[in-house]
Amino acid sequence: MTKHTPPALYGLVCYGCGYSAAPKTDADYSCPECGEPLSIEVAARVSPLEHFTTKPDSMWYYAPLLPVDPHQAVSLGEGATPLLNAPRLAEELSAGAVLLKNESVNPTGSFKDRQVSVGITRARELGLDTVAVVSSGNVACAASAYAARAGMKSILMMHGHAGGAKAQQATAYGGQAIRVDTPSARAVFDLCREACKRFNWYHLSTAGMYEPFNVEGAKTLAYEIYQQTGGELPDWVVAPVGGGGLLGGIWRGFCDLVRLGLADRAPRLAGVQAAGCAPLAEAIRSGASFLETLEHPWPNPETIAGGIADDILFDGHTVLPAIRETDGVALAVDDAAILRGLQRLAETEGILVEPTCAVVVEALKQLPDVDNESRICVILTGNGVKDLAAISPHLPEAAHIPPTEEALFDTVERRQHEHSG
Ligand SMILES: [Zn+2]
Repeated sequence: MTKHTPPALYGLVCYGCGYSAAPKTDADYSCPECGEPLSIEVAARVSPLEHFTTKPDSMWYYAPLLPVDPHQAVSLGEGATPLLNAPRLAEELSAGAVLLKNESVNPTGSFKDRQVSVGITRARELGLDTVAVVSSGNVACAASAYAARAGMKSILMMHGHAGGAKAQQATAYGGQAIRVDTPSARAVFDLCREACKRFNWYHLSTAGMYEPFNVEGAKTLAYEIYQQTGGELPDWVVAPVGGGGLLGGIWRGFCDLVRLGLADRAPRLAGVQAAGCAPLAEAIRSGASFLETLEHPWPNPETIAGGIADDILFDGHTVLPAIRETDGVALAVDDAAILRGLQRLAETEGILVEPTCAVVVEALKQLPDVDNESRICVILTGNGVKDLAAISPHLPEAAHIPPTEEALFDTVERRQHEHSG
């Protein structure tokens, strides 16, 4: 981004029927032709030579592909995260390479910082002084932190699956937390949207069916993967799915790269959910349209991966075509596999993720058509330090010994014996 970058031009598109329109000023983002939500498409005026050759220092490097004014950007340095080679995981899978896109190093510990940074910049452009979100944890943390950064107030509406530690992280940045006693994210969305209308707050939730600006930041993941692989896109990109805005956004980012002539096609995309809340897997299996999925919320979300326990696909209008148009897959893993994957990733690659993110690790074994040439990119969405309480019952205790050499040597030798036996 240079100092003189003008705000990007953008239009609205419908992935359901192909309708397109100019930007609008009212808050109704449903397609007049088919009723699906409209998404944003930036009319990229980007010179690939100019914008994909130097190293980004944050997500805002890609400002010409974002639909807000970069001069007003509310930023904490989000994005530009590492892409790490994971040779031991690749060997276990008999794959050519596993590349870990480590989003857990973002400012508040999750990829949501990218989305919230763009969304709150939109709120600033509109001149609003308060933002409100519905969140099971990570969006609340990001919204509260970025509101503090912007000098705005934040209202954080949480539902039944919100993690205790994340709620504390979120309120530490000064946001006002309100816990609504229901397991249904959708019910809380309805409440939040009414409150936004009444109090003139910006609705900063990362649900593209309500607010298309707020999911735009996820596109930058695709740009970074392109850049970090030197344009040699992986065969698969695998990501956790709650509402679907992450994977839908990554897909739209790859579509931008194709439109810019930088890539021939998007990688195959895999969305992973917890078996206890898997509306994407169900929709792909049944062939349901986005509007049909809204009629059948997941009846009783129940999983340790609370951050993706969304009862409906709030971004089904982008995540369904993301899977279908890339010959992708929707996978699900149970809670025992989530914990196994979490510990395996931590012990083999040194990255501790939260359970919500750990769904991807064991799911890698289910990916079709993987051979020793395949390159698999895995999006690690959230930091395990955010949700230690969820995994602490499964972690070993420290050995407790008196301050003697005998006790120490005994303990070390016993541990060595256990590991060799
Ligand atoms: Zn339409």
